[in-house]
Amino acid sequence: MEVRFDMPNLMLQAIPVLEALVQQGFEAVFVGGCVRDTAMGLPIKDVDIATSARPEQVMSIFPRCIPTGLQHGTVTVLHDGGSYEVTTFRTESEYEKHRRPLQVEFIDRLDGDLLRRDLTINAMAMNAAGELYDPFRGLNDLKNRTIRCVGDADARFQEDALRMLRTIRFASQFEFTIAHTTWRALVRHRELLRHIAMERVHAELDRMIGGAHPGRALHLLAASKLLRYTGTVLPAAEKLAQVDPSYSELDKLNDPDARYAALLLAEGITLSDAEETLKALRLPTQKMNAILSVLFVQFAMNQLNQQSGLRLVWTSTVLQYGEEASRRWLSIVVWNQKHHLHDQKNLFDKWLDAMPAMTLKQLNLNGKQLAEELQRVTGNWTGLMLKRLLLEVALDKLPNEKDLLLKQAQIWNAEDQ
Ligand code: ATP
Ligand code: MG
Repeated sequence: MEVRFDMPNLMLQAIPVLEALVQQGFEAVFVGGCVRDTAMGLPIKDVDIATSARPEQVMSIFPRCIPTGLQHGTVTVLHDGGSYEVTTFRTESEYEKHRRPLQVEFIDRLDGDLLRRDLTINAMAMNAAGELYDPFRGLNDLKNRTIRCVGDADARFQEDALRMLRTIRFASQFEFTIAHTTWRALVRHRELLRHIAMERVHAELDRMIGGAHPGRALHLLAASKLLRYTGTVLPAAEKLAQVDPSYSELDKLNDPDARYAALLLAEGITLSDAEETLKALRLPTQKMNAILSVLFVQFAMNQLNQQSGLRLVWTSTVLQYGEEASRRWLSIVVWNQKHHLHDQKNLFDKWLDAMPAMTLKQLNLNGKQLAEELQRVTGNWTGLMLKRLLLEVALDKLPNEKDLLLKQAQIWNAEDQ
């Protein structure tokens, strides 16, 4: 019996594209994520179409298209305000070093195209009538909440080792269980991960850590020990691969950078291990610095040893590493009940909110004004004194008013002479 689904608008809008291809005698169906997500009742992200038409035939049917990846058979068709990736049915023969196929071959049959896909839930097709074509029983796996490779899992992972990370990513994203045979194959071939570019490892990891169930992803990464086998060694991998009970709570931190930082703050990971790990993952500099700043805040706060200096250390730390990193760090302290400063979280929060200025820009005095008042030539001392004034203001000991700031500067200047 045919299973039919109600299609979301994005797919309904693409039906004329399928129909135009069918009218010319070709086969054309929806494939991949949009079919899977529709079958799960989830919103879809984009619409992928597979067809028996060759790229040049696709291009001759649709006046507006972009030859996105002709060598892989992909043409982006623009139709009625939508854009759709239309890819010719293909097989992938021979894989270069466990990653990309050396050769793709265009074929006439949908079956062969679905066979090259990674997981059964990603290997279903749907026609314009919403009827499912599901030779690998992906729908059954969806119902049983199972992630399973198409066909022989050993072969799938050997062909393309990235699929191991995708397997874990989808299992965590949907909270599915990985089929026993698929899991065993994954563990068996885990060392093939070294063939995968670190950028791609990072992209998958980002989706796991930033996703709805990062704890589950980390648990699976730990259990498979997959992260030990990346092409560039991740110095923090060993520690990350130890299942930590706090991982299961990671989803309660809603900022992905805070999640990365929380992970790297695990006991036994040094600052330089953390830095090397982020570098190895080829994180964009800005993102890397944002995460590292949170670790620096932790490092600075560790210098604290007595209660009396709490506000001073916190305030100087906020001035040094900025509000964003400090708030991120605080969110981790609030989140982690075992953090040694957890009980002080409300104080940190209160003090932070009460800071009248956190940057030199926010100080109502600049270097030129200061130098004029003290009748000195600007120099090294100017910045130092402005910072000293900023600290007093941030500690709420001195109002952020030009006259009062100058008065304090006069006093210090006299003391220093
Ligand atoms: P999402 O985009 O929501 O993450 P998706 O299923 O659309 O999920 P894509 O990476 O966009 O994932 O890939 C589209 C389809 O291409 C997949 O559904 C799958 O059928 C196939 N596919 C993608 N990557 C691979 C791979 N490494 N090996 C085999 N098939 C793949
Ligand atoms: Mg997709």
